[in-house]
Amino acid sequence: MPRASEIQWDPSAAYVHITTNETIQGIQLQEIPDAAGRPLVADMSSDILSRPFDASKFSLIYAGAQKNLGPSGVTLVLLREAWLETANKNVPTMLRYSTHVKNNSLYNTPPSFGVYVLNLVLQWIEKLGGLKAMAERNEKKAKTLYDVIDQSSGFYRGHALPDSRSRMNVTFRLPSEELEKRFVTEAQAAKMIGLSGHRSVGGIRASIYNAVPQEACDTLAAFMKDFAKKA
Ligand SMILES: *Cc1c(COP(=O)(O)O)cnc(C)c1O
Repeated sequence: MPRASEIQWDPSAAYVHITTNETIQGIQLQEIPDAAGRPLVADMSSDILSRPFDASKFSLIYAGAQKNLGPSGVTLVLLREAWLETANKNVPTMLRYSTHVKNNSLYNTPPSFGVYVLNLVLQWIEKLGGLKAMAERNEKKAKTLYDVIDQSSGFYRGHALPDSRSRMNVTFRLPSEELEKRFVTEAQAAKMIGLSGHRSVGGIRASIYNAVPQEACDTLAAFMKDFAKKA
């Protein structure tokens, strides 16, 4: 992730768009950059509600529900109505946020079952103690896996620089692609699925979104230690 000092804002930009967590390389913004007065827009699809965030810094936040909020098919949009006033009006009705604001998000029939489940997820988060508790929970989960990487004497190599590490997607490499294949196969036999890295970077990726419990990370960490010992 670029450091704040490395980012050069285009002075003519109408707004600044950031992605707070990137799932392929497994990197996450640790701090929201200061967009120097420009409206700030964020895609928070892969880390929304995983930690507290200061909504006052943003003009628009959007997130697909499918990672941290609920079933696919719902998209959450938070926006500043004053900024909306400046939006281009020459786009199709359905694609204008103002259409959805004016109609209380009911311009078309929303995916009601997905919205219902999303509400259950929000209640679950509140019951666990809200976003502060989610952040603690997610930090502990991620640390469980990063500690194994860091204490493996180089057997596991983290893909992200330590200060950019994502708490949602833990990415790492093994000494060879052959070992990576074996890791995935043996993990699958131990009932852990979906551990292959994204095809563009390879390696291993453990996605540990809000719904993943600490126990799952403990199980994977124990498997990783065991695998490294045997290899
Ligand atoms: C997952 C994700 C999306 C949506 O991608 P899908 O393939 O539709 O799930 C968009 N933006 C970010 C930052 C994401 O992590």
